[in-house]
Amino acid sequence: GMQAQTQVIAHRGFWKTEGSAQNSITALEKAAEEKLYGSEFDVQVTLDGKLIVNHDAKFQGFVIAETPYKQLKKIRLNNGEKLPNLKKYLKKGKKLDIQLILEIKSHKSKEVEDKMAADIVKMVKKMGLEKQVEYIAFSLNVCEQLAKLTPESEIAYLNGDIAPAELKKKGINGIDCHYNVIEKHPEWVKEAHDLGMKVNVWTVNKEDMMKKLIDRKVDYITTDQPLELKKLLE
Ligand code: MG
Repeated sequence: GMQAQTQVIAHRGFWKTEGSAQNSITALEKAAEEKLYGSEFDVQVTLDGKLIVNHDAKFQGFVIAETPYKQLKKIRLNNGEKLPNLKKYLKKGKKLDIQLILEIKSHKSKEVEDKMAADIVKMVKKMGLEKQVEYIAFSLNVCEQLAKLTPESEIAYLNGDIAPAELKKKGINGIDCHYNVIEKHPEWVKEAHDLGMKVNVWTVNKEDMMKKLIDRKVDYITTDQPLELKKLLE
């Protein structure tokens, strides 16, 4: 059937540019300035349950899950910006015309993951961002929680080890996998599309792979090189 053209998602925001940094609010603004489809970012929880935006479990010497927010909020990113908390980040996102691709990071405790998912969905709904936020996670548990909490949302599983039809049965309506997974299972693109599911692929920074995936008609490509991908699509 007809599929819309592949769209661009900036991985951890558009950070490979002057004054930006991975997962910074600036990177989100820069992605919106480039009129990309979406900007991806990572959400973790502190010891005391505060939701913050950062990729690594350990950041500037602190293990985020074992450190209270009070200690983390002083940390500066590479561009001088303070470590953003999720509320502040979403508040900025609401003012911008870009999809917010929210990755919930895995946690060793199911209980903590469940609470993260519940708190995040509650915040998103309270802020009226249900249509602008799309969820992604490596944790199958997180995806299953999201399917229960917010079944109308876009929810994609990142791990690439479960076929689209199996995910669909669990209420998970997208796949977001490494490009090697699509090389191994090119049939998953059609399988997903036939089920009304979206296909996103990460993290594609080389032009030949971008071209391959555009030809495969994936819905989204997540990249650290959003301008290069945009140029290819034009
Ligand atoms: Mg991520």
